[in-house]
Amino acid sequence: MTQPKGGAVDTVVLDGLALAKTIRSEIADEVQSLVDAGHRPPCLAVVLVGDDPASRSYIKGKQRACARVNMTSVEHILPGDTSEEGVLKLLDTLNCDDNVDGILVQLPLPKGISAETVAEATSPAKDADGIHPLNSGRLLAGTAELVACTPLGIMEVLDRNGVVLEGANAVVIGRSGIVGKPVSILLQQRNATVTLCHSRTRDLAGICRGADILVAATGRPRMVKADWIKPGAAVIDVGVTEVDGQLVGDVDFDAIMGIASLLTPSRRGIGPMTITMLLRNTLVAYRARNAV
Ligand code: NAP
Repeated sequence: MTQPKGGAVDTVVLDGLALAKTIRSEIADEVQSLVDAGHRPPCLAVVLVGDDPASRSYIKGKQRACARVNMTSVEHILPGDTSEEGVLKLLDTLNCDDNVDGILVQLPLPKGISAETVAEATSPAKDADGIHPLNSGRLLAGTAELVACTPLGIMEVLDRNGVVLEGANAVVIGRSGIVGKPVSILLQQRNATVTLCHSRTRDLAGICRGADILVAATGRPRMVKADWIKPGAAVIDVGVTEVDGQLVGDVDFDAIMGIASLLTPSRRGIGPMTITMLLRNTLVAYRARNAV
């Protein structure tokens, strides 16, 4: 969707849902050819501890996404008072189950269960979320097969919109282990010159003004202003925060129209890409484990 507004640049607003559908149909074709060749379809195991309605709806969405690409999914819902040991026991069973290719533990976990311990207890070979420390280490080494889903989704958006990474100045705001850090490594591996910013960064606005590619992943609503954006920059807004009942991104979306060349909305932007990369990771894990 191209929407020229007040500024001099025609801003392409990403339709993340449409792009996700395109990639999901590619994944579905791949799964179908595996099934046609006599293999079982890939299987994602989804683990939820407790009955948080938002988490329940997220896992349902992930299972629906699996079904749409002809993958199977199995759901394990544990009571909210399950001990950490109980979760680790289930993970052990799933790790050993040859019919499970990917494992996803829905966050947040109830108090008393460490997300880090749970991530480490998931087999790195089945780490559909790409967050196991071994996979993070492989990302640094440039040998990762399974990478965190949101950073993978961001790279797909840039690539499929023809954004040149080689030699580009890329600025990433936010240094979390699931978004900022991994995406900064992926960008650097594609020969962008990357500046990773955070809450202690001095002159954030000035640094952003030099960005050909700006990735905002802070969860601070509309923090990135129009006068921070270099005309023609690709702006990836990862942030999603509920403000007065509405989902708001990290960038001042309306003000940046007509300045950025590419802009991702907070709804139907990076979110659908994240789920799509979960499917892709499950397929990658399946292929690696079954050597097909
Ligand atoms: P996080 O773990 O809370 O990390 C936020 C990062 O932003 C931190 O590194 C923090 O710096 C930095 N930050 C906070 N305030 C800042 C400021 N004023 N100036 C510069 N940097 C600042 O968050 P996250 O998990 O990465 O998620 C970030 C946002 O993306 C959230 O809104 C989340 O909901 C969204 N998200 C969306 C998807 C999706 O699929 N659409 C996926 C994941 C996350 P310090 O390190 O110095 O504290």
